[in-house]
Amino acid sequence: MDAGFRAHLAGADGLWIPPVRGNISVCMQDHELYRRILGIEAPWQVERVELQLKQGEVHVYLTHQANLEWACADCGRPSPLYDHQAERQWRHLDTCQYQTILHAAPPRSQCPEHGIRVVQLPWAEAGSHFTALFEGLAIAWLKHPSQKAVGEQLRLSWDEIHGIMERAVKRGLARRQAEEMPQLGVDEKAFRKGHKYLTLVNDLEHSRVLYVAEDREQKSLDGFWSTITAEQRASIQAVAMDMWDPYISSVLDHVEDGEKKIVFDKFHIAKHLGEAVDRVRRREHKDLNAEGDERLKGTKYDWLRDPARMDQEQRREFAKLKQSELKTARAWALKETAMALYNYVYEKPARKHFQWWYQWAVRSRLQPMKDVAAMLKRRFENIITYLRHQITNAASESINAKIQWVKYTARGFRNKQNFINAIYFHCGGLELAPSPTK
Ligand SMILES: [Zn+2]
Repeated sequence: MDAGFRAHLAGADGLWIPPVRGNISVCMQDHELYRRILGIEAPWQVERVELQLKQGEVHVYLTHQANLEWACADCGRPSPLYDHQAERQWRHLDTCQYQTILHAAPPRSQCPEHGIRVVQLPWAEAGSHFTALFEGLAIAWLKHPSQKAVGEQLRLSWDEIHGIMERAVKRGLARRQAEEMPQLGVDEKAFRKGHKYLTLVNDLEHSRVLYVAEDREQKSLDGFWSTITAEQRASIQAVAMDMWDPYISSVLDHVEDGEKKIVFDKFHIAKHLGEAVDRVRRREHKDLNAEGDERLKGTKYDWLRDPARMDQEQRREFAKLKQSELKTARAWALKETAMALYNYVYEKPARKHFQWWYQWAVRSRLQPMKDVAAMLKRRFENIITYLRHQITNAASESINAKIQWVKYTARGFRNKQNFINAIYFHCGGLELAPSPTK
């Protein structure tokens, strides 16, 4: 059957020719159907629709009415057509089970002011190989299940997925409003093993990631301040962070009265104290073990655990240990007493409590406890700020949980930038979808 005859038949009864082999053109009446399904509007029209049965694809060729003026992509001024770029393709939402691909030659306009510019096409953002509707669908799907499953369902490669996510993040960041950010949390995240770090700035109030940078240097955090306005910077009341000098310097350099706003993270301090207790335990266990005393064997986590979370049996066992004359028991009591600082409401008695604790610690003859006491004393002014601001990085726990999930599910990250984009994508609280087209 020759093509002309097939077209004649198709035109005559308005039906598609049954699949013989190769490609099939769709009759004129169905152009209107496709135009409506695809949301193609004037001046654009469907010129030709081709079904590629073997590949399971529908190719839709678009053209536009002649003698039109086109809005300049820069200023919107109606400008005459200059020429067309070579034909391009955009993957669109599937129609039935068919992958649907739009084809068109993008017109270029000639603006008196801006010169020759490619016009903004209504179905896609500049530079994308997908239509806005397709990207919107992919973005909605990528937020939930595994990226691998989404890639398989939508028949997208890793590169295509990362491209969609990258554009979505760019779009979302550009749309951000200059909202106030009274409580920030600066946190570091290990990226893979081998001490590669990312620095994260979190908005603790809205549980979202504001900024991600490589490494954990001062310049990692310095980059954040220029992404917010002067008003936003002035709205910062408190910044939770670890006792990490590069971050401290960055805040002091960029936030007014920064020295009153830094709050060292409570859980970070508890971790330092816990590590000191463990150093005491290891040394003591070695000495005791040499004399055949195994009381401290296998007790590492008992000293770190919250006694409130032990069952009755464990609590009884631990009570014997903590009431003993062991050095580790004294170190443990020091740790618990230091953390009691956080139960105070008022600053004055809290300061007194700390001074008293500090004297006890330096006289304890337990070197690891003396070391940690000296550090806490040196950092004290930004520990006690907790009483005023009551913030910790645990407020970003939901963010951390999500980042763990991103790390776990997205094994396709070939590089750090893709990981950074995924953090913004899932944890940035961004508006990601392409603007609806007219
Ligand atoms: Zn212009």
